[in-house]
Amino acid sequence: MNLMVLSCQKAGQLIEKKQVKNLTILEKLQLNVHLRICERCADYEKQSVLIDAMLKKHPKQALNGQEIRLSDEIKQRIQKELDKRIKK
Ligand SMILES: [Zn+2]
Repeated sequence: MNLMVLSCQKAGQLIEKKQVKNLTILEKLQLNVHLRICERCADYEKQSVLIDAMLKKHPKQALNGQEIRLSDEIKQRIQKELDKRIKK
């Protein structure tokens, strides 16, 4: 197996991890390579960044989709993220 080839699942984990802490250089490289070849994960990463920024700014607006039009899938993700954070 090539060291630089990540599964989508692993890429997703790295994307999540990136929101809370720094990745190692190897992880960053692996993720970058994956994002370049995998459109789905690249989209997912954009959404993660977006969601994170919105949650920090205006959780309520993010949920209502006032600022940016959101798909139902993203709304569900935001809801889940909010639940997670509120429970902490
Ligand atoms: Zn992928």
